[in-house]
Amino acid sequence: MIKKAYFGNFGGQYVPETAMFALIELEKEYEKAKGDPQFQAELEDLLKNYVGRPTPLYYAKNLSAHYGHDIFLKREDLNHTGAHKINNALGQVLLAKRMGKKKVIAETGAGQHGVATATAAALLGLECEVYMGAVDMQRQQLNVFRMELLGAKVVAIEDGLKTLKEATTAAIQSWVAEIETVFYVIGSAVGPHPYPTIVRDFQSVIGREAREQLTALGKHADHIIACVGGGSNAIGIFSGFLDDTSTELYGAEAGGEGIDTERHAATLTLGREGIIHGMKTYVLQDKYGQISPVHSISAGLDYPGIGPEHAYLFQTKRAHYVPITDEEAMNALLLTTRKEGIIPAIESAHALAYLDKLCPTLPKDKKQTIVVNVSGRGDKDMHTVFSVLKGEKYE
Ligand SMILES: *Cc1c(COP(=O)(O)O)cnc(C)c1O
Repeated sequence: MIKKAYFGNFGGQYVPETAMFALIELEKEYEKAKGDPQFQAELEDLLKNYVGRPTPLYYAKNLSAHYGHDIFLKREDLNHTGAHKINNALGQVLLAKRMGKKKVIAETGAGQHGVATATAAALLGLECEVYMGAVDMQRQQLNVFRMELLGAKVVAIEDGLKTLKEATTAAIQSWVAEIETVFYVIGSAVGPHPYPTIVRDFQSVIGREAREQLTALGKHADHIIACVGGGSNAIGIFSGFLDDTSTELYGAEAGGEGIDTERHAATLTLGREGIIHGMKTYVLQDKYGQISPVHSISAGLDYPGIGPEHAYLFQTKRAHYVPITDEEAMNALLLTTRKEGIIPAIESAHALAYLDKLCPTLPKDKKQTIVVNVSGRGDKDMHTVFSVLKGEKYE
């Protein structure tokens, strides 16, 4: 296998032979698009005028006073559709259109990537089909309705636990069946090569902007924090700072009910090397190598694998990965809401929660510059937040 498909030992193309030709075509077409000034100009125009970029790098004065260090929030929550996912969905759907595809398909868990893809497909005039577990459809009825309103067809998956993992498997099968006419829009920096690289590149706008915005203020980032599900918002911001060796990078994983329980999704903390969804990476698995069921209060972090570039950054220790529990995330959501008037997504609250652990370890006499990526806004999570505050069980 060609080494460029890998980050160290991780990544690759663990797919059926029938999918190889589509991956090779995708890589070729992506390389062409990447070097085409017209494609890049169209994407840049959409990011600016449709998505609303650049997103602000906001100096969080009250959180900074609370923690004793300079805290900046990268406001991906202000993007059209409410999260970073649109950066990647627009890029891939634009690529699908350029390749002459008529239809895009996507998998979705909570529905955020499905909504972003349906949005991009509506804008660019492509047919859209979204695969979603039947249980997730029940939990996220509003997002199902949003996708249908945008003109997408939502396909209910009734296999297994009827959640994201099964929806992803169904999307891959359906893609392989219609591989000549269909483009598969993957929602995170995961899957077989070249997807992790494509998604990283489309999300790298976050890190590029954040670094420029800091530089304009005469600042240098000492610490960057992002939450990690599959890892797309994290790799998006990390990529702008990988070469700044004095900048520490932290990924906050879902610690769920605690890493001493079986209810978490702390893949790098507790996983082992394995294969999932076409890539070699760290995977939460049992002693027989079966993929473990995962839990997180946030649907976006509820994934038993992780993007291969994170596996590599973990192994080489360029980035650090830390588990944050449901409860710690919820406390951080409340703190940010009360101190800054910003309600973050529960996913993003995992990144904010790490401030509680990081700041007490930093030198008090030397103020540090910390950037937290606020990957999305909390509107979608209101029912969960209310259940928790009322002491009810949440799904
Ligand atoms: C989907 C989602 C995530 C997790 O996905 P990554 O690929 O790890 O970024 C994080 N935050 C929000 C708001 C999301 O919607």
